[in-house]
Amino acid sequence: MSSNRTFTMIKPDAVNAGNIGNILQMINEAGFKIVAMKYTRLSKQDAQAFYAVHSARPFFGELVEFMISGTIVAAILEKDNAVADFRTLIGATNPAEAAEGTIRKAYASSIGENAVHGSDSDENAAIEGAFHFAGREIY
Ligand code: GDP
Repeated sequence: MSSNRTFTMIKPDAVNAGNIGNILQMINEAGFKIVAMKYTRLSKQDAQAFYAVHSARPFFGELVEFMISGTIVAAILEKDNAVADFRTLIGATNPAEAAEGTIRKAYASSIGENAVHGSDSDENAAIEGAFHFAGREIY
């Protein structure tokens, strides 16, 4: 995956709250093109593998249980400077610290249940995109 792409998930809290459409609208209005997208659910093994980098953190178990608690939307997004610009669009991990106009400010309820995921580097965007999508599913 080239560096103009990032990977996102709309997390179970936002799906359950009926915010898929609102969040996709914010993503589109910020200039991102959706090049892959699916409505899916993570298994426990998937969630543990996806968040393996956090496995030693005290919240790891809670994070995994949350991410498998419902359906998610996974997507690959394209835009110049995609990783950094998407991190700006989603806002701080803790919605109490998220800037006005960000997705987490609008739709996240807590540091754990924070509505969306966004890759933190080009390398991780490529790894995370490949975790969810086969090449033939990316357009
Ligand atoms: P992100 O890159 O902004 O998503 O934040 P991190 O990479 O630091 O953490 C990954 C995810 O773990 C966050 O998006 C949250 O869903 C969850 N998380 C982070 N910190 C906490 C915490 O203190 N408690 C809980 N329950 N979850 C957390």
